[in-house]
Amino acid sequence: MADIVGWEDKNGLSKERLTFLNSQIKKNQPNEDEIYFQVNGKTCVNLISIVNLKKLTNQLSVGNLIKASDKKPLKNRTRSGGWSYVHALPLLSIEKTIVKDQLYDEFEKSVSQSLKDDDESINDRLANAPKFPEKVQTISYDYRRNEDVVAAVLKRANGKCELCKLEAPFLKASNSSPYLEVHHWILLSEGGEDTVDNAGALCPNCHKEAHFGQNQEYIKSNKAIKTIG
Ligand SMILES: [Zn+2]
Ligand SMILES: [Zn+2]
Repeated sequence: MADIVGWEDKNGLSKERLTFLNSQIKKNQPNEDEIYFQVNGKTCVNLISIVNLKKLTNQLSVGNLIKASDKKPLKNRTRSGGWSYVHALPLLSIEKTIVKDQLYDEFEKSVSQSLKDDDESINDRLANAPKFPEKVQTISYDYRRNEDVVAAVLKRANGKCELCKLEAPFLKASNSSPYLEVHHWILLSEGGEDTVDNAGALCPNCHKEAHFGQNQEYIKSNKAIKTIG
């Protein structure tokens, strides 16, 4: 991401300007030794000057940007040329926005790293650590799941966890039904289907184990055996 501060027609550059630009390219972009005027046989015209070039920590599709002119999302560009003034989607500050899963993954890694340290180092860091955590804005992706899959699976489970076969641990306050969580054996994020066959009603312990336990691969592959009987 960068701020565009200037535009020039490449064909209108003075000799001095071209010499200066090429010397800058040699210095800063040694892989491209001079300004190109053609790509794949097509003439290039636009020379754009930018400042504040920044690398974004997450990838954002251009579809996350809205045009200033009509407030509609920007379409993916299929050809070069053409441009619009854009805004980030409301409430999304592009630079600071973090994808939620990425935040969790990185945190998980940091915890493992910290666990490897000796108590003294951990205590040293704790003594100097800010007492209130930094607040960040995240974006997350989710699935609009089929309510009938959830209903059918809960009926099939009939109040018992389909992995450990124990009674649901408590009744829900909202409707006094047994509390079970409907899990996808092959995760939706891994391309699993939102179908009755790919789902099981689990107690919270088994559900966590299915996601984080050492047996998660076993649980995944034995779904058929485990859900019968
Ligand atoms: Zn269970
Ligand atoms: Zn799950």
